[in-house]
Amino acid sequence: MNKSNYILLTLVASVIALFFLGRWTGMSLELRSEQVARHVHEAWCRADDAHATDTTLHLDVLFKEELEVTGLQHLRFRLNSVKIDSATIFRPALRYYADYAPLVKAGRTYVIPAGDGQGIEAHLLNLRAETLGSQLYNLLGTLVGFGLLGLGIFTQVSIIHRQDKLAQMREDFSYAMIHDMKSPLTTLLIGLRTLRSGRLDDKPEKKEKHFEVLEQEAGHLLTLTNRVLTLSKLEAGRLILDLDEVELPPLAEELIHTFEAKASKPITFRTDLQAETVYADKEYLKEALSNLIDNALKYSKPEGVEVTIVSCRDNGYIHIRVRDNGIGIPLSAQRTIFDKFERVLPKDKGEGKKVSGFGLGLNYVMNVVREHGGYVGVESVPGRFSEFTISLPDREEEADKEE
Ligand code: ADP
Repeated sequence: MNKSNYILLTLVASVIALFFLGRWTGMSLELRSEQVARHVHEAWCRADDAHATDTTLHLDVLFKEELEVTGLQHLRFRLNSVKIDSATIFRPALRYYADYAPLVKAGRTYVIPAGDGQGIEAHLLNLRAETLGSQLYNLLGTLVGFGLLGLGIFTQVSIIHRQDKLAQMREDFSYAMIHDMKSPLTTLLIGLRTLRSGRLDDKPEKKEKHFEVLEQEAGHLLTLTNRVLTLSKLEAGRLILDLDEVELPPLAEELIHTFEAKASKPITFRTDLQAETVYADKEYLKEALSNLIDNALKYSKPEGVEVTIVSCRDNGYIHIRVRDNGIGIPLSAQRTIFDKFERVLPKDKGEGKKVSGFGLGLNYVMNVVREHGGYVGVESVPGRFSEFTISLPDREEEADKEE
C-alpha cells in the first residue's frame, strides 16, 4: 500500500473511531439524563404521597426536600407550584414515569400533575447531561474537523520537508556521482587521444600500460553504473539472483589481485577461509565484497592497510568477514552507515582529505545480502579496526537438517 492510501486509511479509521466514541459517550449521557428525569419523577411521587397524608405541607417544599435526598439539588431546576386546568392530564391517569417519558425527551420541560388541580411544574434548566449530550456531536465534530485539519497541515508540512530533503539528497547524489564519473572519463579521453595520436606506437610497453589504465577506468565506471542500477532494481523489487555454489578461495584471490593492482597505497591481505563454498549469486557477492575491501582501503591511513578476509560456518550461516586496521567508525555512526547516502567523513585533517563516495556502498551490500536471505554486521573501534560481516544462509546445514 502506498503512502497516500495509508494516510487516507488512517483518516477514515480515526473518523470511524471518533464517530463510535461519540455515539457511545452520547448514549451514556442520554441514559444519564433519563435517569435524572426518573429520579425527579420518583421524588415527586414520594412528595405527593407525603402531601396526601398531610395536606398542610406544601408540595413544592416536599418536592425540594426529596430532590435533596436524591442528591439532585445541584442540577438547575426551576420549580413552580401551578394550578392545573382541566386540559392537563391528571395524576390518576399519569402515575408512571413511562407515561410522560416522551414529554421529557421532546420538551426538556415537563409538568408533574397533582390531584385537586395542584401540581408542580419542573423546568429542567440547562440540565448538564442534556446539554452535553446534545452538544456532544457538535463538539466532537468540531474537534474531528480541527484534528483532521491539523493532521492535514502536519502531513503536508512533513511531505514538503521530506521532498526538500530528498531533492537535496538527489542533488548531492548527482553531484557526487558526476564527480566520481568525471575523473575516469577524463582519464579515458586523455588516454584515447594519446593512443590515437600515434605517439606511443613505437613504445609498446607504455602503450600497454595505457590500455591497462583505460580498462581499469572503464571498469570503474561500469561498477558505478551497475551499483546504481542494482539499487534501483532492489528498490523496485526486480532483482533476480542467479544462485549457485560459489568457491570462496578463488573469489578472494581474484579480489586480492584486483586490489593489489589498483591500490594507491600499500595494501596487504591475509585470508583464512574455513568455509570454502557459499550458495550465492557470484557477481553480486563479488561486488559486495569488493565494496567492503574498497572501503577498507579508502578509510585507512595513507601509510597503508592490512585487510583480513575470513570465512566460517556457524549456526546455519556462512559468515564472511572483512577486517581492516583503518580509521574505524564511531559507535554512534555504526547504526546509520548502512542507510542510503549516509557517510561519515574523518574529522582529522590528515586523513580527512575528501574521500570519494556517496554513501551507497554499504547500503548496496546490506540490500544484496538481505536479498540472499542473510544479514550484515559491523564491529569497529575508532583508530583501531573495522570488521564487516556478511552472513549468508548455509545451504549444506539446511540440507542436513532436512535429511
Ligand atoms: P561511501 O564509501 O561512498 O561513503 P559507504 O556506504 O560504502 O559509502 O560507507 C558509508 C560510510 O561508512 C563511509 O562514509 C565511512 O564513513 C564508513 N565506512 C565504511 N567502511 C568503513 C571502513 N572500513 N572503515 C571506516 N569507515 C568505514
